[in-house]
This record gives sequence, structure tokens and C-alpha cells, in this order.
Amino acid sequence: MKIIKDVPTLQATLSSLREKGKKIGFVPTMGALHQGHISLIKRSNRKADVTVCSIFVNPTQFNDKSDLDKYPRTLEADAALLEQNDTDILFAPGVEDVYPSDIDTTVDVSFEPLDRVMEGAHRPGHFAGVAQVVKRLLDIVGPDYLMMGQKDFQQFSIIQHMIDALSIPTTLVVCPIKREESGLAMSSRNVRLSETERSDASVIYRSLIAARRKKKTHSVEQIIDYVSRRLTRPNFKLEYFSLADGRTLQPIKDMDKHDYVVGCVACWVGDVRLIDNLIFKGFDTLSR
Ligand code: AMP
Repeated sequence: MKIIKDVPTLQATLSSLREKGKKIGFVPTMGALHQGHISLIKRSNRKADVTVCSIFVNPTQFNDKSDLDKYPRTLEADAALLEQNDTDILFAPGVEDVYPSDIDTTVDVSFEPLDRVMEGAHRPGHFAGVAQVVKRLLDIVGPDYLMMGQKDFQQFSIIQHMIDALSIPTTLVVCPIKREESGLAMSSRNVRLSETERSDASVIYRSLIAARRKKKTHSVEQIIDYVSRRLTRPNFKLEYFSLADGRTLQPIKDMDKHDYVVGCVACWVGDVRLIDNLIFKGFDTLSR
């Protein structure tokens, strides 16, 4: 595996691979890698000839400075894990490489109404920062395939919208959520949970599964109430649970009026903010 830290070296390397007809798969991450990230690497290895993984903790998507400061950084261990899993190139740029002062990297696309709800409503400016970094990285890497996780449902929806709006020549491939044995969705933030919090946090997934079982017998309001009650516990703070249309992400009122429904949750466990989601209706596989 090559470890590259600057844009010109990466672009020279990729253009010579492209000249040989190689297809490029790209996995953007913020590091502190786990098996969820690795599932994206494996998917990329199957789809493309060359897999590039980027590790960049993007300051522009953090609305909370202390969240940015506390974000785990484990570059050496990440590099070893990527190497073991047949990654071709690790791109680990600095802030000045991603955001040089002479390039305007802001993205002028309206994401409404996708960005008005859930993460967008609770983390002001978050998706503008996500779109900015993904657009800039896509400009640098120019991949044939972009791998993203269903774990960040709203994020991949917004990125698909950006790809369509700007006619970016890449195919977004959405990969299923990897979970720990307890059902807890894998996340870089999980390392900050105590052992008890980590085991308690599995109630998030169990509540989603139990809620989905009620979809034919209970109203949307009753299901929301059920999940809210289950996630009201000591040391938990539920930020939102939304049953949303899978395309518009807007909250639904009646399950029967939608063919694609996702249940999305954000919940604090101690001082760690966790998100998860489950498809309640439609689209078993998210691959496009
Ligand atoms: P992050 O490093 O958290 O920005 O995540 C990088 C990519 O990995 C994003 O596309 C995430 O959706 C994806 N990802 C994170 N956690 C998981 C997971 N548990 N399963 C599958 N994909 C994941």
C-alpha cells in the first residue's frame, strides 16, 4: 500500500493507473477505522481495480469544536488495517492540501429539503461541510466509484443529490450497516463509550427492530412514541427519532402512503452522540 499525503503525488499516481485502464474506487473516511469502514474497502476491491481510502478529519463539518477535538485519531493503526485489507492507496492529506487558500471549495448546491431535517436540523452547517469535503476529494481523486455507508443515511442522500446536480461522473455505491454482535452500529465514536454504555447502547438497534415489527399494527405516531419511551433511560438523551420517506427524508404521517420508509435515530449515550437507522419499508438493498 502506498501512503500519500499530498495532492500532486496522488494525482500523478492515479493518472498513470487510469492510463492503464484501471477503474478507481474511493472510500472517504475520517479514520479511527473499524469493520464498517473495511466493508466499504472490500466492496471497492470487488468493484474497482484500485482502491483509494482517504483519512481526513474534516473541520468544516463539525459544528461543535469539542466534538472535533475529541474525534479519535489513530493513523498508524488505520494504515495497518487498510494494508491488511488490500487497500492500494491511503491518502492522508493535511487541512492545507484539502483547503488551499487559492481554491474556492464551497459547494453551491441547494439540498433543500433533504438538509432541513434530522442531522441537518440538529447540526447547523454540517452538510455544507460534508458536501464541501466530498466534492473537493472527488475533484482530487476522480473515482469511478464512491463508496459510502448506509449508516449515514442522510449523508449519502445528500451526496447523491450533489452528484446528480453537478453531473459528477462517479457512481455512488451504498453499503449496508456493519454492526457489533450486540446490534450496535459500528462507529468511530464507540471507542469513547464505557463498557456499560456500549452494552446499553445496543438498545438503540433493538428498539428499531421492535418498532419495525409494529409497522402493520401501529400508527406512525404510536411507533414514534414507542421508540421514544424505550430510549428514555438514565444516561441517554434522545435527540430525534424520525420515520421518514426514504427519498425526501421528510417525516411521514402514514406508512401506507409511502413505499420507501426509513427510521432514523440520533441519541446521546453519556457524552457520545450515536446515530443509527433501519429501513422499515422498501429497498432491501441500497446498491444503486
Ligand atoms: P466516517 O469515517 O465516520 O466519516 O465514515 C466513513 C464512511 O464509512 C461513511 O460513508 C460511513 O457511512 C461509513 N460507515 C461508518 N460506519 C459504518 C458502519 N457501521 N457500517 C458501514 N459503513 C459505515
